Amino acid sequence: MEIPNIGPIIKSYRDNHNIKQVDLAKQLDLNVPALSKIESGKQKADSTVLIKFLNISKEFNKVFDFTSIFSEQDEPVPKNKTELLDMFFNVCENYPNAVKETFTKHKIGNVIRNELPQKLLESANLSPEEYKAYGSVGKGAWAKIPWISFMLRNITESTQKGFFVTYLFKNNGKGFYLSLNQGYVYYQEQFNSEAKEKMQEVTDYLKNELRTINLRLNLEEIDLELDSPLAASYEKGHIIGTYYDISNMPDEESFLNDFKMIMLAYSELEGIMNGFAYESFIESILNYKSLDHVAYVEQEMYQPDIIVQNKETGDTNFIEVKSPKKAMPRRNVLAVREALKNAEYQCEFDPGHFTFIANNGKPYVEGHHLIPIREYNRFDNNIDNPSNIVALCPNCHRALELGPKELKEKMLRKLFYNKIESLEQQGMEITFSELLEMYNIKRD
Ligand SMILES: [Zn+2]
Repeated sequence: MEIPNIGPIIKSYRDNHNIKQVDLAKQLDLNVPALSKIESGKQKADSTVLIKFLNISKEFNKVFDFTSIFSEQDEPVPKNKTELLDMFFNVCENYPNAVKETFTKHKIGNVIRNELPQKLLESANLSPEEYKAYGSVGKGAWAKIPWISFMLRNITESTQKGFFVTYLFKNNGKGFYLSLNQGYVYYQEQFNSEAKEKMQEVTDYLKNELRTINLRLNLEEIDLELDSPLAASYEKGHIIGTYYDISNMPDEESFLNDFKMIMLAYSELEGIMNGFAYESFIESILNYKSLDHVAYVEQEMYQPDIIVQNKETGDTNFIEVKSPKKAMPRRNVLAVREALKNAEYQCEFDPGHFTFIANNGKPYVEGHHLIPIREYNRFDNNIDNPSNIVALCPNCHRALELGPKELKEKMLRKLFYNKIESLEQQGMEITFSELLEMYNIKRD
């Protein structure tokens, strides 16, 4: 999403801190003319620039007042205008009665499914090419919680999985919520009985992570006053938002500004996801309570053999999962961490291999299980153990998976003889030929 004009905020930040334009440009990975254009409002910034700016301005106020962005840039909403509010009033007033009438072709259906979502996009100057917008009154029968949702096409396809902005109407017509929320179906499929708990963990994490949260949108919890699993899932998935009481509505301009502000936070979230897959993003939050490891998690996910640790029976029992895209690895994160530390963050094939400095301040290396995890049942001891994990630079890591067999054999020989003692101490006895077999390398 193109961020509405954050230029003035960047400019005033720079002025207040006496930062030279050239220095700030460097930090934002922009050239000076581009930063100039952004500051003067001639060019819009994207979510990447927003995130970078938020990161370098951490010492600044946690909650920025971004509201000014909108009022400066858009035409002021006429004081007596209530077009948008009228549509919401209409839904609140009529929905409780509509549900007593025939579902098929009811006119309120079209208002919620199409008219209102389109009107909102249009009023906020958001492009339908970037945002999917639609509402629901149920499928074949009236929904208890009618809704209107907005999805950034880049990151979210449906309300079943991913992040989206939604208006959730209360069943009794007394009001509705605006909420940055999450799809529950994904959690259900991944975590079964723990779905709600996991969703809540992600919610809590993101509440702290987002920095464009306007004070008007910091409603902590929502309560749909319904005893249903669906209502509960919206309540757990609520990250930020606000409530509108139909008897005490703001004016049209503030109402529209709330929507724009939540869409700004939504695009901040897109920036935080930084192009990584939703699955990796969620897994990194749940496993590491940090986003510094998303790249690593993503890399692990695409490995052909994914083994999931069985949580009920403990360490040594593994469940094999066929489809890595659908199921997440649940490995012992601490084992990898310890192994990388033991290797002093150097590539164990060749400590001279250069990588970059990661967000944790250490050279970036990846953990690789020398004895592949899928061979777990050959050993009594848990092979998801630091002594079986080697640190590799990303290049070597790929070569070990995709390189020619002569290279793989050369690499494995060095890694194996480095590790053999500690492997044996941990009860993992194996010969070099056996290891080659595990990598499908036949010696001539
Ligand atoms: Zn290397």
